Amino acid sequence: MIHRILGTLASAASQPSDERQPTPAVRLDGVTHEYGATGGRLRAGEQRTVTALRDVSIDVQPGETIGLEGPSGSGKSTILHAVAGLLVPTSGSVELIGTDLTPLSTRKRTHVRRQHVGIVFQHFHLLPSLSARANVALPLVQTGVPKRARRKRATELLTQVGLGDRTTHLPSELSGGERQRVAIARALATDPTVVIADEPTGELDTATGNAVLDLLTDVGRERAVLLASHDESTLAVADRVITLRDGQVVADGH
Ligand code: ADP
Ligand code: MG
Repeated sequence: MIHRILGTLASAASQPSDERQPTPAVRLDGVTHEYGATGGRLRAGEQRTVTALRDVSIDVQPGETIGLEGPSGSGKSTILHAVAGLLVPTSGSVELIGTDLTPLSTRKRTHVRRQHVGIVFQHFHLLPSLSARANVALPLVQTGVPKRARRKRATELLTQVGLGDRTTHLPSELSGGERQRVAIARALATDPTVVIADEPTGELDTATGNAVLDLLTDVGRERAVLLASHDESTLAVADRVITLRDGQVVADGH
């Protein structure tokens, strides 16, 4: 059903009046987010609201890798979570290939995320009791792909990231760089339109981090990638770097 919604809206977005403007893979339009306000989350005992994003507008085209830079607390992760539909901003819209996620039910948003967004975290977030292959196959369980096809796809992806000989290893039997490569393979399992990576090299030494960045560069050739980091060499792989301060875009390096 979501495919139908996305299909309908994507074709509506490419009607003649918009012909010269391709539908962006991601569009944030006037996004403001307050944690602790409606739709946000507040830790127990916390009373105040925090304005994490103020009127943020960003377009990302397919094939474009965007770097999000800014000091800790400037709103990078909040943007990525909004793009993934993990949170609904207080105001503004978040579109994936022309479909606004903000009015969707949680169930539909989750469905869109599972189909169209791959997520890479700083701390890998692999399930410790599952093999590398089972971790990579996991998103395909959620999207209803049959077991044989899942195993085949997971093995192919692990081979692609250079881990064809590690498919049955547990995360605890892999190095940090290998774990992050498993996480990238997992992010690609559903062949997503958008990949978000939140400080993906934060836990890795320089050489290992660079190998992971090469991989993300490859990933970004066909997809929209949003990469949050405060590390210069990580940001160097981006086609465009957007700078945030206190939840506002202060530079968008077109
Ligand atoms: P960054 O990723 O750039 O470090 P974040 O997006 O995590 O920044 O945070 C932006 C602001 O929102 C910060 O002031 C942070 O303290 C606040 N914040 C982030 N997550 C939450 C949350 N779950 N509840 C309340 N405030 C939050
Ligand atoms: Mg962050």
